[in-house]
Amino acid sequence: MRKNIVAGNWKMNTTLPEGLKLADEVNAALAAEKHNCDVIICVPFTHLAPVAAVIDQNVLGLGAENCADHTSGAYTGEVSAPMVASTGATYVILGHSERRQYYGETAATLREKVDLALAAGLTPIFCIGEVLAERENGTYNDVVKAQVEDALFHLSAEDFGKLILAYEPVWAIGTGKTATADQAEDMHAHIRGVIAAKYGEQVAQDTSILYGGSCKPSNAAELFAKPDVDGGLIGGASLKCADFMGIVKAF
Ligand code: PEP
Repeated sequence: MRKNIVAGNWKMNTTLPEGLKLADEVNAALAAEKHNCDVIICVPFTHLAPVAAVIDQNVLGLGAENCADHTSGAYTGEVSAPMVASTGATYVILGHSERRQYYGETAATLREKVDLALAAGLTPIFCIGEVLAERENGTYNDVVKAQVEDALFHLSAEDFGKLILAYEPVWAIGTGKTATADQAEDMHAHIRGVIAAKYGEQVAQDTSILYGGSCKPSNAAELFAKPDVDGGLIGGASLKCADFMGIVKAF
């Protein structure tokens, strides 16, 4: 059975004291109130170990926003999957459109990162999504299919089953422009079909597919009500405890 999940992506926001305060607030809010989904925060590398020390990971999962495509060695400035795992974090966002766009991440790089993350025992939250021109010229289904196939279809069914996917139309990220619930549902159903064709219906049905892109308390319930939308990857609205909890409560 797939899980409902709300995951925050803090991106390059918060100093360490600000991040610790936010993590503590979210953890306390989740501990105080019943909620009907798994909740995860993905935070800057600098925050991982200190945040791990202040949250209860039975209540609030912890992840990184990226990891290196090598395990160790002379890669100045990089942070490897085993290093992330050694902080106590158990998730890692991979393939975010900002990494693809600003840091040139390709399917080949992402295959390495996914393999290393899985080998380190991390759960990748793997992002896919089309840019505005691809939405407008009608190629979006093919673009997203290729992103899934090129970066992930070398995996065994067992390893593929460990992933969380996040459909994030690039035109909706940080723009205030959300995909409609129907657009999200159509794409999520399409992705599930692509998975089913390769790994079978059971793996497809068991894969959590999150929606990301200007998701907020006011639109989360409508998005999450769709049968193939299993939650959200939340950027801007994960930086305020009340907004993030408003989205969690949409389940
Ligand atoms: C994201 O970057 O993953 C994201 C969904 O951002 P936002 O919610 O701010 O659009």
